Amino acid sequence: TIGMLAMDANGNLSGACTTSGMAFKLRGRVGDSPIIGAGLFVDNEVGAATSTGVGEEVIRIVGSHLVVELMRQGYSPENACKEAVMRIVKRDPAKAKAIQIGFLALNKKGEHGAYCLQQGFNYAVCNAEDQKKLIKGKYYF
Ligand code: ASP
Repeated sequence: TIGMLAMDANGNLSGACTTSGMAFKLRGRVGDSPIIGAGLFVDNEVGAATSTGVGEEVIRIVGSHLVVELMRQGYSPENACKEAVMRIVKRDPAKAKAIQIGFLALNKKGEHGAYCLQQGFNYAVCNAEDQKKLIKGKYYF
């Protein structure tokens, strides 16, 4: 999945994502990316979030919506992403060890953060200070 979150000069938020789906998926399988609230969610009052990884697990917790609602409660983008990842870990710790999930979030203040299950999830930031800064996502395992 490629997920993009953006804030314009007026502070308005938007987001988009695209995916090739999972390898060897069954015909007709729908992942998280095309489901608003799972693979992508934007609330212009609060923030925006997107995800990558095993879509079935993200759909089960309505992950991107969860991340935005956690930011509404005051979580930082990174902590909101971490909490969403932890819900997936708590549901099935053994399975969580074997899969990849990552969340990326941006709040209304322009703060961004990410968190993923396994090492190797990085994201790029482009703003007035950083034209193309690569940030290593924090991870659980
Ligand atoms: N999230 C996608 C899916 O489950 C896979 C990906 O990360 O590209 O379809």
